[in-house]
Amino acid sequence: MFITCGGVRGSAPIHHPDFLAFGGDTTAFRIAAPGAEPLLLDLGSGVRGLLPGLLGSTPPDLRVTVLLTHFHLDHLLGLPHLAAVLPAGATVEVYAPDHLPSTAREAVERLLAPPLWPLRLEDYPAHWVFHSLVLRGGTVTLSRPGWRITACPTPHPGQATAYRIEAASGAAAVIAPDLEWAAGDASQRDAFLRLCASPRPADLLLMDGQFDPEDYPARAGWGHSTWREAAEVARHAGVPRLAVIHHDPSHPDTALRSREARLQREAPGAVLARQGDVLAVTPP
Ligand SMILES: [Zn+2]
Ligand SMILES: [Zn+2]
Repeated sequence: MFITCGGVRGSAPIHHPDFLAFGGDTTAFRIAAPGAEPLLLDLGSGVRGLLPGLLGSTPPDLRVTVLLTHFHLDHLLGLPHLAAVLPAGATVEVYAPDHLPSTAREAVERLLAPPLWPLRLEDYPAHWVFHSLVLRGGTVTLSRPGWRITACPTPHPGQATAYRIEAASGAAAVIAPDLEWAAGDASQRDAFLRLCASPRPADLLLMDGQFDPEDYPARAGWGHSTWREAAEVARHAGVPRLAVIHHDPSHPDTALRSREARLQREAPGAVLARQGDVLAVTPP
């Protein structure tokens, strides 16, 4: 399984020479495996960088699955890019869990409509299908060609979602772009740890670590974790690889490099993900 990081910036995109190493586009990942249907996780502004890989060698009847964690703008900014380039004959299957404040269809129809946008989704060539994932017992598992996907709610204003994605090879990754660990109650924390750890520890965790620990108290309730909490979750769940995501849009490369050095003193091998990274995930 390969996870391409189209955007790892949180909250809002930033375009500036001081932000090029980690990139300024917001949350979007492409997940691929041999013989499996292409997956996109979130549609932030980073979607644009994922399109050549998505469209490069695909037939006009491309089918792509989109997993949405929630509907905050930084996770939907790339929707017009995707809608504009998909050909007629392409089908997009959009999934979001039913614990969010609206359905994905309602959120997308509010965003792509006047006065916020000149076109509606049905004005674009591809066919879009929306699915609500019904959470039973806190999680729900979905099968897509080549994938087994489990969704779990995460503490965040209005709530968000983490996904565990397992390929036919057995490789497993958990992606949790928006998660405020300190705001979760015991059952929410247990559910997320179970997602990471069972039926066996995932091979890779991509988790929100937007804040430095000393900055968190002034930002409690904003919806994000610290990199130290991400490292503690990975350690507690037995996940051997950690890539921290959802970097603060006010932190340039110099700040993120020093944050990564601090992270690696506490969690050797952990990294801050960079836009453009292609993470190969293999089972043990
Ligand atoms: Zn976000
Ligand atoms: Zn959010």
